[in-house]
Amino acid sequence: MNRLSLKMKLTLLYSFFMMCITCVVMGVLLSISNREIRGLVGVNLQNRVVKSIEDIEVEDGELDIDSDFYSLDHNIYLSLYTTDAFFLYGKIPYDFTSIPPFLDRKLQVIPQKEEKWYVYDVLCELDGYGQVYVRGVTSLTDSENNFHITLRIAMILFPLFAVFTAVIGYRFTSRTLLPVRKILDTVQRIQRDADLSCRIGLEEHKGKKGDEIYNLAETFDQMLDQLEKAFQREKQFTSDVSHELRTPISVILAQCNDCLANDTMPEEQRMKITLIERKAREMSEMISQLLLLSRADQGRYQLNRERMNVSELTEIIAEEQQWLAEEKKIEIIKEIEPNLFACVDETFYIRMLVNLLSNAIAYGKLGGKIWIRLEAKGDRIQGCVQDDGIGIAEKELEHIWKRFYRADISRTKTDGENHSGLGLSMVKWIVEAHGGNVWVQSSLGEGSQFYFEIPTNFNDSLMFGDYS
Ligand code: ADP
Repeated sequence: MNRLSLKMKLTLLYSFFMMCITCVVMGVLLSISNREIRGLVGVNLQNRVVKSIEDIEVEDGELDIDSDFYSLDHNIYLSLYTTDAFFLYGKIPYDFTSIPPFLDRKLQVIPQKEEKWYVYDVLCELDGYGQVYVRGVTSLTDSENNFHITLRIAMILFPLFAVFTAVIGYRFTSRTLLPVRKILDTVQRIQRDADLSCRIGLEEHKGKKGDEIYNLAETFDQMLDQLEKAFQREKQFTSDVSHELRTPISVILAQCNDCLANDTMPEEQRMKITLIERKAREMSEMISQLLLLSRADQGRYQLNRERMNVSELTEIIAEEQQWLAEEKKIEIIKEIEPNLFACVDETFYIRMLVNLLSNAIAYGKLGGKIWIRLEAKGDRIQGCVQDDGIGIAEKELEHIWKRFYRADISRTKTDGENHSGLGLSMVKWIVEAHGGNVWVQSSLGEGSQFYFEIPTNFNDSLMFGDYS
């Protein structure tokens, strides 16, 4: 039962109750009509017998009976008997062979073989004949048979009615639950695409203002409005702050450079200024990444892509990073398929690869190795940056793409380097903005492999994104 959808459960419940109510109502109606039919047959018989007395006259000592007496109105057989049960006139049903006792104005039910008969007698006085009985006989079984036919028709119609009720119930439930379906779809869409601009928008239900589901959807939409505005404000704030911070940082950097240009500066001061300069540079880099990401969130970034030899570009970046790697005696091994072309934004591609390589160096082991691979995969280019460093714990893999997320900081301590936790969210944004995707495989203590895949031809619709 748990696996059934809400729609199915409601339909079954509705159909079950409808069936129960129909059964009860039909049972009551049929039992009432059965009794009514029996009662009606008895009343008709009594009336007919009483009325038929008027049809009997005696003329010149002879019985003169109206032809109506002989007719089978309401299937009632009329006959005339003496008080000694001697048949004088009339009709008796062929199957009714017994002669039950005569009881004045008393309705008798006489069972005979498989049939039941109603018998009604009225005693009356006839000139020259003395007291005679007018007897009316009618078959109860015929009426009951008619009732049974009705019952059988009802039994045949019942399953049809059940199917009809279930279909109507299903359609009705579907219609009623349509807004719920829309709410669910919207929530799933928001979850999947991280797109807060989605709305349920139950336009066609505008006439149903009082409907609880409609109200729920409307409240949900209003909540989304507020959430979206709050997020927009937050994005704007991040963008503004990053923007505003750039000027003071540039001033600090410029001042540091000025100071460092002074050769007469004592060594101790020089070291302090150098430290300030390095930290200011790290901050400047972080601010520019933050600014870029917040602008990307707002859809204000457009890739400036052109068709280029990605293999060559990758070679150059790998060579440039080699001097950084040398500090840790790490060797960068290039396995790059030559002449792979794709439409990429050069600046962003460089940034993406530098981020991956600088991570591989930072989290790689002293004297270790880094492999950079590039190969064609159908209409895509697949790249991989692999290291044999500290690796990433499985539980952290899904989080590393989030902004400012740093896996187990004590373990991943990277002395004095610019590691703010923005690098991989940047990588993800860049690759996805190119219409590609990124993923990682890693084993703690053994190393990591970061993969990226970008299409060789680029689709414009994939230029912007929100990857918070
Ligand atoms: P950070 O600026 O801290 O390097 P990133 O966004 O680039 O931030 O990476 C997020 C986290 O993912 C890092 O703090 C680190 O714990 C983990 N990480 C990234 N690359 C590697 C790697 N090659 N080896 C091990 N851990 C990595």
